[in-house]
Amino acid sequence: MKVYATPADALEDAMRLSGAMTRKLAVAGLPFGGGKAVIAVREIPSGEHRRALFLRYGELVAALGGTYRTSSDMNTNEADMDVIAERTEYVFGRSTEAGGSGNPAPPTAAGVLHGIRASLGYVRGSDDLEGRTILVQGAGGVGSSLAERLAAAGATVLVTDIDVERARVVAARVGGTAVPAAEIFKYESDVYAPCAVGGVLSTETVPRLRCRIVAGSANNQLTHPEAAELLRARGILYAPDYVINGGGAIALVGLEQLGWTTGELDAGLERIGQTLRQIYERSDELGVSTAAAADVLADERLQAA
Ligand code: NAD
Repeated sequence: MKVYATPADALEDAMRLSGAMTRKLAVAGLPFGGGKAVIAVREIPSGEHRRALFLRYGELVAALGGTYRTSSDMNTNEADMDVIAERTEYVFGRSTEAGGSGNPAPPTAAGVLHGIRASLGYVRGSDDLEGRTILVQGAGGVGSSLAERLAAAGATVLVTDIDVERARVVAARVGGTAVPAAEIFKYESDVYAPCAVGGVLSTETVPRLRCRIVAGSANNQLTHPEAAELLRARGILYAPDYVINGGGAIALVGLEQLGWTTGELDAGLERIGQTLRQIYERSDELGVSTAAAADVLADERLQAA
């Protein structure tokens, strides 16, 4: 749910997000296509207006008869999914009280951690986090959970957020250091983990990065494919966003649709690291960016489906 300048912008976003969702499920090896709906609003609603909107949206999803199942993303949460569920069964991510699998941020963070380990293993020959420095950008649902997991594994954690207090609280909780959001390029790290907003990797920002690996949860990290080429040219390993951030989708589909046990979910999240390694090897073999190699893998899996 988002405020868009024009309906055409909303449609374009829905198409782009649907494409990414299709590739995300394909590389995750889940036996479903991927789609995404956007709700274009004049302003983010609250209270009764919000509830009425999600009830109407639930009726729309119900009318699709199960060919599309919706879930939460930007500006929506478990409580909204519970409201949608009053009108349709085709909704992922209800609260655990309402019978869903709850917040997808922790499994997303668990998947990112597997991705960081696989990336370190690829460039450094060891996936050990002890003594590694990781810059986590965004201390929200995913970033805070990731910071906790990294610190528990022995990493030195730098946390940044435009909400200074949020960064401070998370850094203090994990024994890390909060750094100002505007100064991230001053800090050297083994891994830069973007877990806030998209568009952080551009031809302007990539030359300024002081890390060996970029591996985080944010969607649409690259502004243009050239940014991925530039990362490769600089010798910075980039974990393609829709591969490394698939943990939430894997958890929702696995637990709610495929009836997985928690053990099966753990194995599904671990596969994120294995898939990334395949992509890195493919990128080296083909001499293309890791983003391009991920698209090749996604296309292969879609054609085989
Ligand atoms: P969130 O809203 O809980 O947290 C985002 C945090 O980023 C907030 O604390 C916000 O203040 C901060 N932030 C915003 N702009 C910033 C900036 N320029 N610099 C530093 N901090 C900034 O979101 P989330 O659920 O943790 O998701 C984080 C990212 O991961 C998003 O891009 C989201 O689309 C993506 N993602 C999330 C999930 C999930 O399961 N939640 C799954 C896949 C992808």
